[in-house]
Amino acid sequence: LENRIVQSQKMQAVGQLAGGIAHDFNNLLTAMIGYCDLLLQRHRAGDASFADIMQIKQNGNRAAALVRQLLAFSRQQKLEVSQVDISDVLAELSHLLRRLIGQGIELELHHGRDLGLVRVDAGQLEQVIINLAVNARDAMPNGGRLTIATMIETVKFARRMGHETMAPGDYVVISVTDTGSGMPPDVQARIFEPFFTTKPVGSGTGLGLSTVYGIVRQTGGFIKVDSTIGVGTTFTIYLPRVAPLEEPQAVPVSREKAPTE
Ligand code: ADP
Repeated sequence: LENRIVQSQKMQAVGQLAGGIAHDFNNLLTAMIGYCDLLLQRHRAGDASFADIMQIKQNGNRAAALVRQLLAFSRQQKLEVSQVDISDVLAELSHLLRRLIGQGIELELHHGRDLGLVRVDAGQLEQVIINLAVNARDAMPNGGRLTIATMIETVKFARRMGHETMAPGDYVVISVTDTGSGMPPDVQARIFEPFFTTKPVGSGTGLGLSTVYGIVRQTGGFIKVDSTIGVGTTFTIYLPRVAPLEEPQAVPVSREKAPTE
């Protein structure tokens, strides 16, 4: 189970990174191959350098082919967004969560009533909760309590949330609270960075929270952390609530292209 989680965190992160890096590499390689062509024009086929430059160009072309594969892989990770009830997702996860955190930690789930729906990829939302639960467990080596609660919050005025501004509206809120070690401010400031970890080599990837952050932002949501050394940590996630009016019948129907005037 542990390996599967680390593996899936890695896959998510690789997918996200791959798209961006592959794109830049593609541009760099195109330039390198272009310069090879320029050099080749200045040499005759029999020259000693000609064969060497050909080698560089061929390898450049092979690298470009690999990069294209990587781009294809990252595009494959299609989102399957649907309208879900967070309570259903949590109920389905509760078994796995209990196994994940082990014996010494108590698990409390508080479901808010009539939460409404949010528009997410349910698999990604599970990943978010699992990543937060794994971190909570790691922060409580001597046991403690993990509390996951859901509720609705109406935000009346635009609100600062980390680097972002949260628009007014109804949000479904998920809070994940542990009674663990807590974090000092300098750690809190860096936790969402990819590859930032305070865990020993081999046990932390530093990708869990950057993945969480990526998914939450991609879903149009927000995340914040509150933490006190020796008391514990709460991660709070806000996801835009889908208004009841937007349920099935109101989904816009795609229309045939109107004739051009
Ligand atoms: P990893 O768990 O692999 O280190 P993450 O991105 O999930 O990577 O977390 C980054 C760091 O944030 C952790 O190494 C840890 O220092 C800190 N952290 C995350 N969650 C908690 C928590 N619930 N309590 C204390 N520290 C935490």
